[in-house]
Amino acid sequence: MLSCQEKLCGLWFVDKFSTTCGERSQTMDNLRLQHKFLEIIKSQVSSANFRAWFTNTHIESLEENKIILAIPSAFVKETLNLRHLKLIEDVLFQITGKKLKVEFTIKNGQLPKPNGDGEEDIFQPIRTHTTSFLNPKYTLENFVVGLSNNVAYAAAQAVIQNPGLSYNPLFLYGGTGVGKTHLMLAIGNTLLKSKPNLKIIYCPSETFMNDYVNAIQTHKMGDLRAKYRACDMLLVDDIQFFSGREGTQQEFFHTFNELQSKNSQMVLTSDNPPNEIAKLEDRLKSRFQGGLMVDIQPPDFDTRVAILKARCMEKGESLEEDALKLLASSLDSNIRELEGKLMQIMQSLKLKNLEATYENIIPFLNHQPKKKGQNPKQLLSTISDFFNLNLKDLVGPRRHKELVLPRHVAMYLLSEEFDMTVESIGKLLGGRDHTTVMHGRDKIKKMITTDREVQRIMIEVKSRLS
Ligand code: ADP
Ligand code: MG
Repeated sequence: MLSCQEKLCGLWFVDKFSTTCGERSQTMDNLRLQHKFLEIIKSQVSSANFRAWFTNTHIESLEENKIILAIPSAFVKETLNLRHLKLIEDVLFQITGKKLKVEFTIKNGQLPKPNGDGEEDIFQPIRTHTTSFLNPKYTLENFVVGLSNNVAYAAAQAVIQNPGLSYNPLFLYGGTGVGKTHLMLAIGNTLLKSKPNLKIIYCPSETFMNDYVNAIQTHKMGDLRAKYRACDMLLVDDIQFFSGREGTQQEFFHTFNELQSKNSQMVLTSDNPPNEIAKLEDRLKSRFQGGLMVDIQPPDFDTRVAILKARCMEKGESLEEDALKLLASSLDSNIRELEGKLMQIMQSLKLKNLEATYENIIPFLNHQPKKKGQNPKQLLSTISDFFNLNLKDLVGPRRHKELVLPRHVAMYLLSEEFDMTVESIGKLLGGRDHTTVMHGRDKIKKMITTDREVQRIMIEVKSRLS
């Protein structure tokens, strides 16, 4: 006899959605869809978020291209819309294979039970033996490779070519927002493409900890082991959170050994290498170090530019090249923040009906030009006036001797006063190479301390600027 839970997850699966739903009553189907939906969401958000925003969400109705979710308050609606809509859409797509438009309706009331007899709580986590949700948006194809992550990328490819056999575990570590989760999921998604039946489990380390605690409380350690030790691939994200969790570490140690002995690939991520994770058992450290450890560095300037370009392409946005570079230079380490900033700027510019140009994005950046009401082009005009030059000559290709000092002054001041990158300065000065800009900037930096004439020029130009 199948248990209710097994019926729920066994009978109802992704590709069966469209074929079986006609035979069943709409309400039953919605409940199963809802069940799967919440199960996946639960594996994707923190338990606090799940409790706050999802436990009282249920599927009100499902039409051809639209789904209506009933939620308890306007506040929940706003939060889901603002913070979780993309996830909701992705999960629904994963389950139904359809891009559904999501609408919300506010309802206060009891949630229906799955089969009317109230035997099972629909929101209890289910121990499935199926692949857990891998967000399909993270792929190798849309992972931009640069100096900061090319070793990790190569390691991911090696794992894909030979899962379980080349590097096990693959341990990816690095700061926040550098692409660890992306690369880890890309490995899973790539393998699933060629082998859709692989049992791959992706779990944030918090999910493993919660499952472990639940299993102890409900005396279901067998279920926990069946779930984690029977998979072909285990992806554990942010394993640094195992720190100090002795029981979890012990359970994971045995899971690890079992998976390794049957060549099931493991990919682990962390903010630090294993030996720097506090309160992590030595035997786990040495297991983790026994595979391949690769770090992902904060992305360098060129990689940041490439990532921004890729995002613009993906979203159908266009941003002028020098504006893109200015943005790439304004944040340096966290790609998530860089992407967030890009989207925020594009939205605001659209609202104001402004083009995405260098000057228009300046007001959105953290490092604002220090002189209010000034912009880099005004600085160039001021310098041209001061030296009695034509602006065209200052930024033009001519290499006359009298143009050298004004250009160097411009390079220095654009860098100091406007926090521009050498790349953007080069661009503004008529497409000059960034090494030329660095040379000019540094030359003035030195001369300022020793050369009276340069000191006078600086004082004069700055005072004209203000
Ligand atoms: P981490 O897990 O290291 O904190 P994530 O993998 O969540 O970082 O990445 C943060 C965001 O940046 C995600 O939207 C991800 O798609 C994007 N991202 C990170 N690295 C890259 C990359 N090399 N190419 C494209 N997008 C990236
Ligand atoms: Mg991550």
